Amino acid sequence: MRVALVTGGTRGIGFSIITSLASKENLKIITCGTKSHPEIKLPVGVEYIQCDISSSSSVTTMIRQIIDTHYKIDILVNNAGISHVKPDGRVLIEDIRDETWHQVINTNLSGAFYTCKQVIPYMKMNHYGRIINISSASARFGGILASADYISSKAGLIGLTKGLAYELRDCGITVNTVAPGRIDTDMISDANLSADWAKNHVPLGRLGKGEDIAGVILFLISKHADYVHGATLDCNGGWIIT
Ligand code: NDP
Repeated sequence: MRVALVTGGTRGIGFSIITSLASKENLKIITCGTKSHPEIKLPVGVEYIQCDISSSSSVTTMIRQIIDTHYKIDILVNNAGISHVKPDGRVLIEDIRDETWHQVINTNLSGAFYTCKQVIPYMKMNHYGRIINISSASARFGGILASADYISSKAGLIGLTKGLAYELRDCGITVNTVAPGRIDTDMISDANLSADWAKNHVPLGRLGKGEDIAGVILFLISKHADYVHGATLDCNGGWIIT
């Protein structure tokens, strides 16, 4: 039985990922969120742990709990994240408060650092691991509504992936990034990014769905992706072609 930790599975992309993984056999799925209980029913068999991934100690407690129960973590998807978008345009750098900067960096980037740091020793012991960091198309081209704090955190995840990919050679562990385009979730519900916008700007003519990203995750944890390492996979309907 493989053990997978997907952070931020209570909504949006993370929920689609755990739902897709739940259809696979021999896979125990654990997810986390900030609330004491998730607000929606999680797929059968998915375990929930309350954890603030922006806190090193909270991540340590969660990983210890998983290891105490399941003894290992084979798959780590760093999905949990936050953004501050405004319907009427991006937040300019002079309007980003220092606290907001730290909150975004701590959640989106440091959170992945904390989980990787805690989980990789167990993956090394088993000579197997699949790590996937969820970045963003905005880290690839600068973004239309995303602010500098968010873009910096997401570009940092690409750097984290590249750094680890080199460091983790000969360990049986692969590390990759997925860079979603505009995906129809709560995160972008405040922004002015409608189906009409997608028809005009995205070659495939629609906003992305959580399932689109979940499909890439299924590929990356499959045997078909055994030689994919240190890569950034764009999944954006052709919106950004790098
Ligand atoms: P949502 O806002 O819909 O969901 C975010 C998830 O992250 C929730 O489950 C939330 O849990 C969890 N989360 C947030 N903060 C924390 C924290 N401190 N500790 C633990 N869990 C936390 O976002 P999306 O599904 O849209 O986004 C998922 C990922 O994809 C993010 O990293 C985002 O940056 C990235 N992405 C999204 C895009 C989009 O267009 N939607 C585009 C590109 C990238 P809780 O409810 O408990 O707070």
